[in-house]
Amino acid sequence: MEHALAIGGNPSSVHGQGRAARAEVEQAREAVAALAGARAQDVVFTSGGTEANALALCGAVQGAVEAGARITRLFVSAIEHDSVLANAAALAERAPGLRRETIPVTADGVVDIDALRGLLREGKGRALVAVMAANNETGVVQPIADVAALMKENEGYLLVDAVQAIGKIPFSAASADYVSLSAHKLGGPQGVGALIVRDGAPLAAIMLGGGQERGHRAGTENVAGIAGFGAAAKVATPVPATLRDRFEVALRSAVPDVVIFGDKATRLPNTSNFALPAVSAETAVMALDLDGVMVSSGSACSSGKVKPSHVLQAMRVPEAIARSALRVSFGWNSTDKEVGAAVASISQLLVRVRARAAA
Ligand code: PLP
Repeated sequence: MEHALAIGGNPSSVHGQGRAARAEVEQAREAVAALAGARAQDVVFTSGGTEANALALCGAVQGAVEAGARITRLFVSAIEHDSVLANAAALAERAPGLRRETIPVTADGVVDIDALRGLLREGKGRALVAVMAANNETGVVQPIADVAALMKENEGYLLVDAVQAIGKIPFSAASADYVSLSAHKLGGPQGVGALIVRDGAPLAAIMLGGGQERGHRAGTENVAGIAGFGAAAKVATPVPATLRDRFEVALRSAVPDVVIFGDKATRLPNTSNFALPAVSAETAVMALDLDGVMVSSGSACSSGKVKPSHVLQAMRVPEAIARSALRVSFGWNSTDKEVGAAVASISQLLVRVRARAAA
C-alpha cells in the first residue's frame, strides 16, 4: 500500500496535519493490536521493547500500590532479556517489601513450570511473573499457556515479553496482563515498540508530563516510527523453519561434535544457537565475517569484558562450551545458497583452527 506519510503534524494537535498524523498512529495501533490478538485501545506505543518491559514492571508495581493492591512478589525467568532482568533487579532494590525470585529453566532452555508452581505456592501475596514468549538467544518457545493457567489459580499479573515471538509464530496477547513488542524484530523500524496492557491491569506511567497514550506514556508519539511499525505488523506472516533446519542438518554433518542449544525444545523457526567446540565465539564471528557470513556471538560484551550468556548459564551449559556459542538468524530474504556458504565457511574455519592446534 502506498500513501504519503503524514509525519509533519503533531498527533495531539487538532489542525488538519495533526489529525492526519493521529490517523497514522491510530491505523498502526489497529494493525499492531490485530497482529497480537489485542484491542487497539490496549496498545501503548513506546520507544521499543526495552521501554515496554520497563513500563510493564515499574508501572505494574507502582500502579498496584496506587490501586491499593500491592505486589509483593516478583518472579522472573532466568532467561529473560536484560531489559527485564535489570529493571526487575532495580525494582526489587527500590520497592519496599518486594521480594524477587528467579524461575529456573530446564537444560533445554524451557521455563520450569513445576518450579514456578512451587514458588507461587511457597509464599503469600500478589505476584508479578515475567516469562518471555520465546528466547532471543536460543529461540526456545516458552510454555505461556501453562504459565497463564497457573496465574489463574494465583493472585497476580503476568508479563510476557513477546518481542522475539510476534510475527514469527502465532501469538495472542489474550493470556497475559502485559505484553511487550518491538517493531524492528518484525521488519519495522528501530526505536519503536509497544506495551499491550489488559484492561483493568494496574499501570502507573513512568514518563510523565503529557496525556499521550491515554496517560500511560507522556511525550509526542514517534509518528514515523509508529507508522512503520503498523506497516510491518500488517504484512507479518509466520516464517517456515525450512532454512534453519537445512542449515542445522548440514552443520551436523560437517561438524559432528557441534552442540545446538535447545534443539529438543520447540523453537522459533528463524534462530539457530550453536557452539563449535574449541573455537572461541569471537574468533568465529571475525573469521566468518571475512567470508561475508554474519553471525553473532552468544556472549554479552560489556565494558570490553566478554561474559558467557546468562541464558546458556541458566541451561547449565559448561562455560567452555558457552564461550563458543554463535547465533544465526534467517530472514525473509535468506537463501539456500547462503545456508550452503555459511556451512562451508564454518567447515573451513574448523579445518584452519584444528591445523593450527595440531602444529
Ligand atoms: N526483549 C527481547 C526478547 C529482545 O530480544 C529485545 C531486543 O533484542 C528486547 C526485549 C529489547 O527491544 P528493543 O531493542 O526494541 O529495545
